[in-house]
Amino acid sequence: MGHNTITSTTKLCAIIGNPIEHSLSPLIHNAAFEHLKLNYVFLAFEVEHLREAVSGIRALNLKGVSVTIPHKVEVMDYLDDIEEVARRIGAVNTILNQEGRLLGYNTDWSGAIKALEGKVELKNKKTILLGAGGAARAIAFGLKEKGADLTILNRTVKKAEVLASELNCQWGGLELVESFKPDILINTTSLGMYPRVDDLPVKKEFLKDMLVFDIVYNPLKTHLIRKAEQNGCATIPGVEMFINQAALQFELWTGKKAPLGLMKKVVVEKLS
Ligand code: NAP
Repeated sequence: MGHNTITSTTKLCAIIGNPIEHSLSPLIHNAAFEHLKLNYVFLAFEVEHLREAVSGIRALNLKGVSVTIPHKVEVMDYLDDIEEVARRIGAVNTILNQEGRLLGYNTDWSGAIKALEGKVELKNKKTILLGAGGAARAIAFGLKEKGADLTILNRTVKKAEVLASELNCQWGGLELVESFKPDILINTTSLGMYPRVDDLPVKKEFLKDMLVFDIVYNPLKTHLIRKAEQNGCATIPGVEMFINQAALQFELWTGKKAPLGLMKKVVVEKLS
């Protein structure tokens, strides 16, 4: 892949996380910068000491930063301001440097909701969310915001309970899933993620007459998505959310409309 000519006025964006070597963010953001001929470059940094890293963003005047595991919660302590919804979710995955002020956003929730709303209206839909980790928190807030009838099921039941009590919705253990008849099933557990690609969070017979959204995007077509398709369910693969959240970051950092099709093509080619 070629790249823009880097000059003394090139703006730097980055992703910080740990581990980081498998991140696809540099690939898609650089492809998008290049496509729109923007004088930006994107790098990945494996960060152990988060406070120092955020000082570095200020000191070196990075334009935008994507924040990933395990830093999405702690990073909130080091920013100048945080958008209301990210504050309520309790996690920031995007930093925008606005003339020296570091602003925190969450594009995971909006990326996921955009992927869902491309297929279905969420209001009053019986929705089962499997998982209660970081991504689940962001998506659960979005679902409530859109008026979905939400139930959160998680292996560690206490975590489902804590999240559900913040959102005033139902909760339980993963094994309860078969006692529901949802319109929408969303997997936010890491079950099925590479390299354990044969794991399935629910029995395949359960996947009938529902929309199945799996946020796991490696592999592109998870075991869950395959089984759901075989049973005639509508499906949304995780790559849709991944691209949407990246596109929203890109738009915050550049003020330009993200080349969504190109970003998707780059990820799909990489993971195929
Ligand atoms: P996280 O905070 O670590 O949460 C992991 C979740 O998976 C927890 O609910 C955990 O349950 C559950 N889990 C893990 N192993 C399990 C097992 N063996 N059986 C049952 N449940 C299990 O991680 P996260 O940030 O939410 O990410 C979760 C997944 O979403 C990852 O695969 C990640 O790559 C993907 N993701 C995709 C996007 C996207 O844009 N498409 C964005 C963010 C994340 P416990 O609470 O019981 O441990």
